[in-house]
Amino acid sequence: MYDFVERSNSDNIVYWSAMTTAHFLLLRAGEFVATDPSQTIPSLNDIELKRSNDDKEYMALKITKSKTDQKREGFILYAGHSHHKVCAVCAMKENLRIQRQHSTSTTSPLFSLSTGSPMSRADLKGFISTSLRLLNISQDHYSTHSFRIGGATSAAVAGLNDYEIKLLGRWSSDCYKRYIRSPISTFLQISQRISKTENTPYQYAQPYNPPQQ
Ligand SMILES: [Zn+2]
Repeated sequence: MYDFVERSNSDNIVYWSAMTTAHFLLLRAGEFVATDPSQTIPSLNDIELKRSNDDKEYMALKITKSKTDQKREGFILYAGHSHHKVCAVCAMKENLRIQRQHSTSTTSPLFSLSTGSPMSRADLKGFISTSLRLLNISQDHYSTHSFRIGGATSAAVAGLNDYEIKLLGRWSSDCYKRYIRSPISTFLQISQRISKTENTPYQYAQPYNPPQQ
């Protein structure tokens, strides 16, 4: 989709920032776009660009209302630069430049469009649909929830361990596994990886002992 984001269109920059943030932070739609009027969405107050002790730039996003946050206390999610053209931190910096041009208050929504309204779930859906159409990809299998699914899937394919995936997606149980969609290539690689074990000496550390009758 990156290639279809028009840099000259400020709304495109805002959409791209929301999408990359959702992808890298495994956000649920309700955590970053307005799904109903009663909902709290991130404001400019909720984002901070910081530097770590070893001088690496990162962003910290405060999420105040979420399904996993029963007490509604909020929690902070962190993302670093991906060092790839698809980068949530670089996209956020561009978004902040746009937002600061037309917002006067730090309580303004983090993802406001040129109409002055915060990006809604319908707005984002529309943008995703247009991008998919341009890419000749069927829209049937994608929604605003795809960023959480895609983020979890990419994390698994990248070889992140269970602990890291749970941490990233704020999952306390193994239900995160439902989110991971396995690409065909994973299965094809598994065949290769299994066949590569042909020379493994099968001496087990914990040999199986059949129960004594
Ligand atoms: Zn970056």
